[in-house]
Amino acid sequence: MICMRGQGVVKGYAIGRAAVMSAAALEVAHYRIQPEDVAGECERLTTALAHARDDLQNMVRNLPADAPREMAALLTVHSLLLDDPMLAQQACDLIAERHYNAEWALTTQGQVLAEQFAVMDDEYLRERAADIRQVIERVLRVLSGSTALLPQLEAGHDGEPLIVVARDISPADMLRLRGARFAAFLTDLGGATSHTAIVARSMNVPAIVGIGNIRGLVRDGDMLIVDGMTGSVMVNPPDFILQEYIRRQSAYADARAELGLLRDAEAVTLDGMAVKLEANIELPEEAEAAIQAGADGIGLFRSEFLFMGRQSLPTEEEQYQAYASVVKTMKGRPVTIRTLDIGADKTLDGDLAVATNPALGLRAIRYCLANPEIFATQLRALLRAAAHGPLRILIPMISNMEEVRAVKQAVAAAARELDVRKVPHASDVALGAMVEIPAMAIAIEPFVDALDFLSIGTNDLIQYTLAIDRGDSEVAELYDPMHPAVLRLIAHTINAADRGGIPVAVCGEMAGDASMTRMLLGLGLKEFSMHPQQLLDVKKEVRLAHSNALRVKVASALNRAERIDLASLQG
Ligand code: PEP
Ligand code: MG
Repeated sequence: MICMRGQGVVKGYAIGRAAVMSAAALEVAHYRIQPEDVAGECERLTTALAHARDDLQNMVRNLPADAPREMAALLTVHSLLLDDPMLAQQACDLIAERHYNAEWALTTQGQVLAEQFAVMDDEYLRERAADIRQVIERVLRVLSGSTALLPQLEAGHDGEPLIVVARDISPADMLRLRGARFAAFLTDLGGATSHTAIVARSMNVPAIVGIGNIRGLVRDGDMLIVDGMTGSVMVNPPDFILQEYIRRQSAYADARAELGLLRDAEAVTLDGMAVKLEANIELPEEAEAAIQAGADGIGLFRSEFLFMGRQSLPTEEEQYQAYASVVKTMKGRPVTIRTLDIGADKTLDGDLAVATNPALGLRAIRYCLANPEIFATQLRALLRAAAHGPLRILIPMISNMEEVRAVKQAVAAAARELDVRKVPHASDVALGAMVEIPAMAIAIEPFVDALDFLSIGTNDLIQYTLAIDRGDSEVAELYDPMHPAVLRLIAHTINAADRGGIPVAVCGEMAGDASMTRMLLGLGLKEFSMHPQQLLDVKKEVRLAHSNALRVKVASALNRAERIDLASLQG
């Protein structure tokens, strides 16, 4: 049995047969052409480029209504890449100068472009190298005259679940694969923000990316076990392992079904404290998953995902439609939309300036206040969407009161502009801030007085408190949510908000980790916001907890700045 590891980006188990996706880039012939054939070869290449581009544009025009929302933008980016003269012209130069055949010239030029992206510091831009490889793959398929992705898919199969094994899966391929039902997706390339990951998440199908060389090792029809929890894949496992995973898969399904029964149960502790459980979303259509999970509202809509992976900024109208659609889907439940949190690990396309230290640079609210037009456009869209239901505006990375005052002025100016344009909008929208910079948590009182609510972003709060880059695997072991300093900042913020009578939530990853639910209840937390998939696990913990007893235990450990032993909070 071969066992391989990658990054599990969608949880769950799958057991099925491998369906290996063709990878023209690995299969094409490289040869030199005769000098008299240069013009014809170049023509063959440009025709294939145009054909592949037209195909993509057709796909955009005929997108199925239920296609993931970002699909049109992703396909458009790919069709624009095919129009890039750097690609066509320089590949034709290689044909003319070195007499490469079209496939060779195209892969060589693609490699040059992909490498330029691959060495960039920014993870998001690095992953754009994948876009280049994917469009090249598409053109190579056109050049080869075969556009079949999975031979057995076209031929049909005997009902066993199929698991797609690919070098990489482009958005256009994903669109084709969505039509058939697959049990899992496995790719050699890609990371947490790759398109495969994004689309697999929206389809809720287990997926492991960045495996390295699974496509080279697995053959069509091999039996595979996919463990999306640990990111591992087992190829042709012996029977006893297969039986074990059949048992795990069914236990997982039973546990999900049992948790499903909690969907409409109240999130109340044993001693009667009501807890709000809300959802974090990144795209408007994920609001449906929040409803399915029984969320009390949206605690964090990371609006920057509407701005990323595209070449122009979303207009006011486009943003308004996106925000309003979430408000409408949530049918009266509160919807907390965070303003653009760009910078650090999330950048806009075309924004190539790299700060000396991006996590401490012009990110989030600092970026918005430095780009008032971008901020004003978003605020107008938010105020308009707030006319449809209870929308709350959440500001990321606030560190001082001056920023709060500047935001309030910007909100008032946006409302005035809508008044002048006679566009309907809400007049009184709740304004809150993320508590994710230690300075704010330490000196929290004026913020409590000035704002309507707070949301603690523990992902960044931990990073800034412990001086540990949250994206740096070298120091990942030091990233410690249980550090007493972090917990004291959380406790201090919750207590101040309680005294000031404003609601406070935690919306960082800690809130969705059921092993920390009791500890957060012990810190006095009554509002948790997390990925919809985690909500019922947390609800189960809440319903088994005794909040007063937990508060006593946690407070006494924190007073002594002692590490809290999570096991001691059980029972
Ligand atoms: C956080 O920092 O905890 C948070 C929720 O925001 P993000 O992960 O988007 O930075
Ligand atoms: Mg943050």
